[in-house]
Amino acid sequence: MAKPRVIIVGGGFAGLAAAKALRKTPAKVILIDRTNHHLFQPLLYQVATSVLTPSQIATPIRSIFRKQKNTTVILGEVSGVDKGQKCVMVSDADRQNVPIAYDYLILATGASHSYFGHNEFAEYAPGLKSLADAEASRNKILQAFELAEAEEDPSRHRDLLTFILVGAGPTGVEMAGALAVFVRSTLKSDFRRINPVSARIVLVDMAPRVLGTFSESLSKAAKQRLEKLGVEVRLGHSVDQIDADGIVVAGERIASKTVIWTAGVAPSPAGKWLNVEMDRAGRVRIQKDLTVPAHPEILVVGDTASLDQNGKPLPGVAQVAMQQGRYAGKLIHGRIVGNSPPRPFSYFDKGNMAVVGKGFAVLQSGRVQVSGFLAWLTWAAVHLQFLATSSLRLSVFLQWIWTYVTGQRGDRLIVNHHGTEVGKPAADANVKPAFAGR
Ligand SMILES: Cc1cc2nc3c(=O)[nH]c(=O)nc-3n(C[C@H](O)[C@H](O)[C@H](O)COP(=O)(O)OP(=O)(O)OC[C@H]3O[C@@H](n4cnc5c(N)ncnc54)[C@H](O)[C@@H]3O)c2cc1C
Repeated sequence: MAKPRVIIVGGGFAGLAAAKALRKTPAKVILIDRTNHHLFQPLLYQVATSVLTPSQIATPIRSIFRKQKNTTVILGEVSGVDKGQKCVMVSDADRQNVPIAYDYLILATGASHSYFGHNEFAEYAPGLKSLADAEASRNKILQAFELAEAEEDPSRHRDLLTFILVGAGPTGVEMAGALAVFVRSTLKSDFRRINPVSARIVLVDMAPRVLGTFSESLSKAAKQRLEKLGVEVRLGHSVDQIDADGIVVAGERIASKTVIWTAGVAPSPAGKWLNVEMDRAGRVRIQKDLTVPAHPEILVVGDTASLDQNGKPLPGVAQVAMQQGRYAGKLIHGRIVGNSPPRPFSYFDKGNMAVVGKGFAVLQSGRVQVSGFLAWLTWAAVHLQFLATSSLRLSVFLQWIWTYVTGQRGDRLIVNHHGTEVGKPAADANVKPAFAGR
């Protein structure tokens, strides 16, 4: 009898965990992703701020499964699901909408940016979701310093050296802290005509406090730390406008050529493919066993799924994605080998962490609330542990020690001159910045 076919769409935290849980299953597992790598998104901001290189936070999915013989990896983009015919539509560089049949389907397609209905902001405020995004932000930041150094008119330095982060959740806070350390230590001695230390870093959010999912005292500690690092924290007002000249917040224009979007996320279109009930954010409403109602063969996991526990929706974090992915893999394994069904999925919350600059983090786990160096050490250990391979763990560990001790960073190259001109959208990429030489 032919082995059942399990298709997993998405090689992020959830998809990877599902595929690994199916390693001993007598099935053909096919993992489809539109990129060839698994990305460790929590460290994207370190690529954007030059601490790490892209290859230190991403691993080819194919190499992760090289020893898992029942698993085939396919580079392709899924654009739809035919529930009746039980197949997914996959496109690649050569072919469009090729149907691939499944017996079981796990959708783990994650999330992308949401500009809260202001898609026009995207042109001037790139988000931070993929490696390409992180490299684009790094290019933009580094190029701003280069342009300022080349600019003879000192009145333009202020705009060029103002960096705005929109969104004071973990990504915005971590990015602001890392950027402050970058300009005040790494870049300090590198320029002759500008003083990088004078760079203005502004973190903006409509919420009344930073790190809104943490306790008030940790959020206060994080804000104080940011301010100590020289970050200007502006809360309680949403951004009204973002354009080539900066932002408008609470009626005030803040001139800047580098604005980065670190706010909302929108789930993948998996709910539309399935034509099933979604929550207000567009995530697929799933049942306690992570299946879609009336389709026990389809499971949706991670950031693109919506499940309540204790009356509250589970957060879009890596821990939820990994635990759901593992559960989905085990559930399908059990069905294939004839085991009795597992108990409903239950998320075990190990806690939240966010790092704020060098040697400082906030940590909240149950009743435990810690801020400072100890929390930072825990943050570092946990993040190292969850990197996909031991070679990445070693490489990142050594880089962090090097950066901590010397202040120097791993990757300060501007690798793509096209589309990174400060303050200009990518479409304007062919316009080269004018060199206002001496
Ligand atoms: C900048 C940033 C920082 C974060 N920091 C933290 C943190 O500190 N702690 C924490 O717990 N969480 C953090 N998160 C959230 C965490 O990364 C996500 O919750 C987690 O990645 C969700 O896992 P996932 O598998 O659902 O989706 P993802 O990890 O996003 O994976 C989705 C995968 O699906 C693929 N895909 C999407 N659509 C298609 C398609 N149509 N066809 C084929 N493939 C497709 C993508 O290429 C991707 O590989 C952060 C997220 C970001 C963006």
